[in-house]
Amino acid sequence: MRERIEMNTKGHMVYAGMDTVDLANQYGTPLFVYDVERIRKNARAFVEGFKALNVKAQVAYASKAFSSVAMLQVAKQEGLSLDVVSEGELFTAIQAGFPMDKVHMHGNNKARHELEMAIKHKIGCIVVDNFHEIELLQELLMEYKQDIDVLLRVTPGIEAHTHDYILTGNEDSKFGFDLTKQAREAYELLKLNPHVHLKGLHCHIGSQIFETDGFLMAIKRLYETLNEWHVRDGFNAEVLNLGGGFGIKYTDEDEPLELSSYVKALVEQVQEEIDHYQLLYPEIWIEPGRAIVGDAAITLYTVGSKKEIPNVRNYVAIDGGMTDNIRPALYQAKYDACVANKITEAPTYQASVAGKCCESGDMLMWDVLLPEVKAGDILAVFSTGAYGYSMSSHYNRFPKAAVVFVEHQQAKLVVKRESYEDLVKNDLSYE
Ligand SMILES: *Cc1c(COP(=O)(O)O)cnc(C)c1O
Repeated sequence: MRERIEMNTKGHMVYAGMDTVDLANQYGTPLFVYDVERIRKNARAFVEGFKALNVKAQVAYASKAFSSVAMLQVAKQEGLSLDVVSEGELFTAIQAGFPMDKVHMHGNNKARHELEMAIKHKIGCIVVDNFHEIELLQELLMEYKQDIDVLLRVTPGIEAHTHDYILTGNEDSKFGFDLTKQAREAYELLKLNPHVHLKGLHCHIGSQIFETDGFLMAIKRLYETLNEWHVRDGFNAEVLNLGGGFGIKYTDEDEPLELSSYVKALVEQVQEEIDHYQLLYPEIWIEPGRAIVGDAAITLYTVGSKKEIPNVRNYVAIDGGMTDNIRPALYQAKYDACVANKITEAPTYQASVAGKCCESGDMLMWDVLLPEVKAGDILAVFSTGAYGYSMSSHYNRFPKAAVVFVEHQQAKLVVKRESYEDLVKNDLSYE
C-alpha cells in the first residue's frame, strides 16, 4: 500500500485524497479510514474478470471480513452477492437493504433459529455443512413449506496457506463433508427432500493465498466427485463455489497475483474438467473477503508513551491495539506503517509498536523503522481493512473504534465510535 501513499505541502500523509492528520483530528483515534474507490476497484477486478471471459458467475463478498451497513451497501451497489455466517451478519444485510436472493449462508454450526431466519427471508442459498444441519433443514422446510437452493460444503483434502499447500487424503477440518464418503451420504439425504434443490458443491481451501495451484487441485478433486455423481445418476452441478482466500499485500514480503488472474486460472481449470468429463458448464461462484476490503483501509492511531530499553528494543505505544486489530497477536500477522504527520522525515528509529491492553502479546508490529516518534504523533497502519474492525473486542473495556468512508475526497462517518454508555448498556445492577 505504501506506493499509494501521497503527501501534501504540510508534510502530512494523504490517503484517498484526504489529509490523514486532519481526519485523526476530526474523528479521533483509533480510526479506520476506508478508500471506497479501492473497494470498488477490487470488486470490479473480480466481476469484470468473469465478464471478460464470458462466464456466468457470482462474486460473493465474505462479509465477515468487514460487515457494516455502509459496507454492504457498497457491495450491493457493485452488484456483488453476499456471504453471511450468522444471524447478526444476516441482520446487517437486511438493514443495508441487501437483496436477499443474493445472500448465501455459511457456518459449521448453524442454529435452528439462524436457519429459520434464512428461510423466512428467502435467502438465495444455504451452504450445507454437516448432517445435523441437514436434519434441521428437513424439519424447517416442511414446517415452512418452502423450497431452498443449497450447496454442499466439502473438504477436497487441500489446504492452502500463502505459498504452500498441503495435500491430505482426509482433511482434519471442522468444516464440511469429506469427499471420500460423507459427501455422497449427504447428497443422498438431500435428494430425499423435495424442498431442497442441490445446486452443486462448495469448497474454501484457505486464506491469504498467493498462488493458483491449490485452487486448481481443488477443482480437479471436486470434478472427480461430480463426474461420479453424473455417471451414477445424471447429476449436473449448476454451481461450483470455490470460496475465497485470495491474497493481498500487507508488507513488501507479500506478492499477490492480480485479482483477475485468479479468476482466469479458475475458469480455465473448470473448462478443462468440463471438456474432459463432458459435463455442463456451471456458474462459478467465489467468495473474496480480504481481497475486497483488506488493502482498502488504514488505521490511524495516536502515539503515547515510549519505553526505550538500551540494546534491547524501543517500545512505542499507541491508543489501540489488539482490541481493533488482533491479527498480529492471533497469528503473527505483519503490517507496514508510517508516521502520518512526519511523512518527509527519514525512518531512522527502530521501534516496536505496542497496543495499550494489559497483555504482553498486544503488539502491532515488531522492529520497524519509523521517523523519530513522540507523543501526539499519528501512526498510520496500512492494509487494515479486513478482519480488523470485524474482530474487534471490548477487552479492557475499550470502546470500539470509529470507521470513516472516503470517496471523491469526501469523508463520511459510517460507524460511530462507541461511547462508555455503549459499553455498559447491557450491564444490570446487582445492588
Ligand atoms: C473466510 C471465508 C471466506 C473469505 O476468505 P478471505 O480470505 O477473506 O477471502 C470465504 N468463504 C468462506 C467459506 C470462508 O470461511
